[in-house]
Amino acid sequence: MPRYSITTFGCQMNVHDSERMHDVLRCAGYTEAGSADEADVLVLNTCSVREKAEQKLRSEVGRLARWKRERADRVLVVAGCVAQQEGERLLKQMRAIDVVVGPDNIPELPGLLGDLAIGGLPIARTVFDLDAPRFLVASPPSPSSSPRAAPTAFVTVMKGCDERCSFCIVPHTRGPERYRPSDEIVAEIAALVAAGTREVTLLGQTVNSYRDPLGALPRAPGASADDPDESEFAALLRRVAADVPGLARLRYTSPHPRHLTPSLVLAHAELPVLPRHVHMPVQSGSDRVLRRMIRRYTRAEYVARTRALVEAVPGLTLSTDIIVGFPGETEDDFAATLSLVREVGFKGLFGFKYSRRPHTPALKLPDDVPEGVKGERLARLFEESEALLAAHLSALVGTTQEVLVEGRDKERGHGGAGGALWSGRTGRHEIAHIDGAGELDLLGEVVEVSIARANKHSLQAELTEAARAAARPRQRGGLEARPARRSLPVVAAEGG
Ligand code: SAM
Repeated sequence: MPRYSITTFGCQMNVHDSERMHDVLRCAGYTEAGSADEADVLVLNTCSVREKAEQKLRSEVGRLARWKRERADRVLVVAGCVAQQEGERLLKQMRAIDVVVGPDNIPELPGLLGDLAIGGLPIARTVFDLDAPRFLVASPPSPSSSPRAAPTAFVTVMKGCDERCSFCIVPHTRGPERYRPSDEIVAEIAALVAAGTREVTLLGQTVNSYRDPLGALPRAPGASADDPDESEFAALLRRVAADVPGLARLRYTSPHPRHLTPSLVLAHAELPVLPRHVHMPVQSGSDRVLRRMIRRYTRAEYVARTRALVEAVPGLTLSTDIIVGFPGETEDDFAATLSLVREVGFKGLFGFKYSRRPHTPALKLPDDVPEGVKGERLARLFEESEALLAAHLSALVGTTQEVLVEGRDKERGHGGAGGALWSGRTGRHEIAHIDGAGELDLLGEVVEVSIARANKHSLQAELTEAARAAARPRQRGGLEARPARRSLPVVAAEGG
């Protein structure tokens, strides 16, 4: 049986696409190789949102040319956003590549590999499925099977993007917005929950612009028929909450601030399944820059909308994405971004230096902020956000929190009964490492912990007595029999 290996670059959408490629290849009779060296087929699932990510692919392919030369039947596949962006050009530029496959063409991958195996030429397939959008679904293990489904899972609700943010290549690489019927979304989540999944993250490029293509959702409370920013996302959240009562947590990423409407705020206030954390990309705190980015909201609108959310759900925390050094960004513009970070009090932040991308409106603007200034602004931005996070984590010491245990602690996962063995996330998405629970089987459980210490980016926690009494003892060899999420080699996972 041919063996494959997948390396993933980029965002959650790519991680999810890689999981679907695993399914498609396994169904076609391939088995996963222990390492890239043992693979017959190597897939690089690429990101092109910033130039650096694209350069990474080019140097990786250069490195793999030797891997290919070692055996004539080895196959190198490039998938993802660079594949979609470059198509045939990649085959001409880098002779080591055999197959280029776009995100919408993943189901065709085994067929393309089959053609190649019987003497076909290198091929690129990068066609958007505009007429009949396909949303690939993972087949979760049956409720009785072992291992159970991972505690957390992604479920795609829409793909593509109709925004035209001037810096962003996504509309080009992922095409226009296409939505998945809510019946299908609910059925996938119900199957995952029946198989053991506790938390689902709804995925989409602008996830909260969702509309049911079959018109199957009632208008959500608080939704206005006259508001152009209104969508059916709040109605979708309400339907999932009502139809899948066993789901412990329902997250989503990445939303656009434009669609943070009163109906979505009300859903957060009324649905306990929505955790008290939202990632809401803002990009800049300067109205002048926001206009040039074509973000279609002002700083004041962003602040008002997120404030309404925090007032409706006390204790809710926000994280964000910010680009520094966008064309024309002055020191005053950047100061406005820093002041916005303080004003909103973000508890997490992905910061990026602006990177010119092909096919984007901002290409017309000179990339006039020097690299050194971009770096210095990014460092100041992180300093600000680290200080906010440190104060937030310290304030949690001594409190009791509910943690969804996602897996073994990366550092000390194989430690004995006294070691820190488990880690997971609170409802507000803080990472928590649980000390001294090595003899217990906590995978997939929502457990009560008391926070003993704040680390730089995480919390150190201990099970409360009540949680310890309620927990299952670990079966001999149980950890190996019930692995957490399949460990995909994720390279440079960045927010959104
Ligand atoms: N669709 C989401 C949105 O716009 O809110 C996120 C998509 S993008 C994959 C993730 C983040 O990368 C963006 O929020 C933005 O901060 C950053 N990004 C996108 N294009 C960029 C560029 N040309 N240069 C630097 N950062 C960029």
